[in-house]
Amino acid sequence: MHLAARASSSYLPDEPRGILQCENVDVYYGAFRAVTGVDLKFGLHEITALIGPSGCGKSTLLRSLNRMNDLVDGARVEGLVTFEGEDIYGKRVDPIEVRRRIGMVFQKPNPFPKSIYDNIAYGPRVTGMRVSSMDDLVEEALTKAALWNEVKDKLKQSAFGLSGGQQQRLCIARTIATKPDIILMDEPCSALDPIATTKIEDLMHQLREEYTIVIVTHNMQQAARVADRTAFFTALADETTGDRTGVLVEYGKTLQIFENPADKRTEDYISGRFG
Ligand code: ADP
Repeated sequence: MHLAARASSSYLPDEPRGILQCENVDVYYGAFRAVTGVDLKFGLHEITALIGPSGCGKSTLLRSLNRMNDLVDGARVEGLVTFEGEDIYGKRVDPIEVRRRIGMVFQKPNPFPKSIYDNIAYGPRVTGMRVSSMDDLVEEALTKAALWNEVKDKLKQSAFGLSGGQQQRLCIARTIATKPDIILMDEPCSALDPIATTKIEDLMHQLREEYTIVIVTHNMQQAARVADRTAFFTALADETTGDRTGVLVEYGKTLQIFENPADKRTEDYISGRFG
């Protein structure tokens, strides 16, 4: 795929060129199966939105894509999650390396209690990345996160002095600094005002040129604005336990999902009749 052509014409292949893939993925918290049987292929250099009513397992599935669930008590993943064809839960796989290649940005901006500079330098330092110039790396990450011009004269100041929107872009820069391939975003704008939200959405379009992005959002307009493809989830009562478990209802190009959904449940949700 030619990226420049894709960006200007918004060409999207019918089938995603998978870089990250779920095959029959279930996610449990103890005995509770929060997500059931998800098959999903995330396209290289695409933005994929996960949408659906609260509690249908979007964040749970997102966290299973970079082994963030390993850090949650009782969480367990069954089925297969592959990154570039390799099982990320494989025996010889280092979960820290998985989280470096597949970074994550959270709902609430969570900078470290450190300077702006040290927030960016932290990841490369602790992961032992070979870096020829940390100053250059910090500048590059902040530039890519569209924050450099706003902070270049106060790199030594605390990250807590930044606005919420700037803090979230700092967290994106921090993720970028360790050179990931994929960035997972869990409702990255839900704590931000509309102007800060627009900045992050514009930034996502720029980042797509270099990264693959998966975003969980409860904001359907946001999914319609930013995503190339959209996956709609809902919660169904499990036949055996009666517990509600998250399932993938429909996945397709965002335009198709919003304008011509194949499933009545998607249509009801999109049109605001449900959720
Ligand atoms: P969504 O992101 O779609 O709102 P979640 O993934 O947060 O949904 O939650 C899916 C289900 O898993 C819900 O029933 C929720 O209560 C449950 N759940 C989420 N996190 C945990 C956890 N750490 N322990 C136990 N249950 C959880």
